[in-house]
Amino acid sequence: MKLIRMIQNGEVRPGLWKDGLIVDLKMIFPSIPDIGETFFAENWLEKISGVNAPGLALNVRLTSPICRPSKIICLGKNYAEHAKEGGFDAPDKPLLFCKAPSALSGPFDPILLPKSSGQVDWEVELAVIIGKTCKRISRTNAMDHIAGFTIMNDVSAREAQFGDGQWFRGKSFDTFAPLGPVLVTPDEIDDINNLQLTTRVDGALMQDGNTRDLIFDIPFLMEYISKDMTLMPGDIISTGTPSGVGIFRNPPVILKPGNVVECFIESIGSIINRVMEG
Ligand code: MG
Repeated sequence: MKLIRMIQNGEVRPGLWKDGLIVDLKMIFPSIPDIGETFFAENWLEKISGVNAPGLALNVRLTSPICRPSKIICLGKNYAEHAKEGGFDAPDKPLLFCKAPSALSGPFDPILLPKSSGQVDWEVELAVIIGKTCKRISRTNAMDHIAGFTIMNDVSAREAQFGDGQWFRGKSFDTFAPLGPVLVTPDEIDDINNLQLTTRVDGALMQDGNTRDLIFDIPFLMEYISKDMTLMPGDIISTGTPSGVGIFRNPPVILKPGNVVECFIESIGSIINRVMEG
């Protein structure tokens, strides 16, 4: 299944995406919760799995396929080539940081340049959506705890990221986590460890990586994180970005108003975000 959240007449409604057509799940299940912690905890993924209603061409705006999670956990330097382009060694254990859940925005919403910081940059990332509570789980059954996968652009204001001494502010400005366009359930992805991911800015290829190059893979990360931190249904783990970010290019490339950033991952799709003054 491919799940979406759509905005129709000011209301967010969960739906299924079928090749450009939409099944409005609220029409079928009036009591269905928004796609988030309650949705997964009440096993709605299974309840909707039998839906075979035809999709309709609805005029709606897509928003992030998950409502505000308890946390967005991100990985720094989880691709060796990206660590290297920044002049760093590959880490010997996962480098975790958090992005504010309020930074989430829709797959086609604008990226707003903050007034308080410059050097805004792109990072295409495979994002894991947790489906079941995880506490001290083993990597051997970690994949059973996943609801699905989506794309996140881990937008970063490098000036604040590197100037503050830690990364929270520079990673958490409003609109700095475009997500989507769909949440793809694991059964629809042949091999999560072999997906191409790219970023294009105004059509020019900037990042071109593959999830096979993740230093710490998804099961390892879920075991590592859940050792002492509970992962809640709906939480996001964004697995890190491959090489080709703007700040480490020669010369550096900084996003400007009017740029259009497209982050693509095979088997999921593309999110496309225009850069605007905030
Ligand atoms: Mg990142």
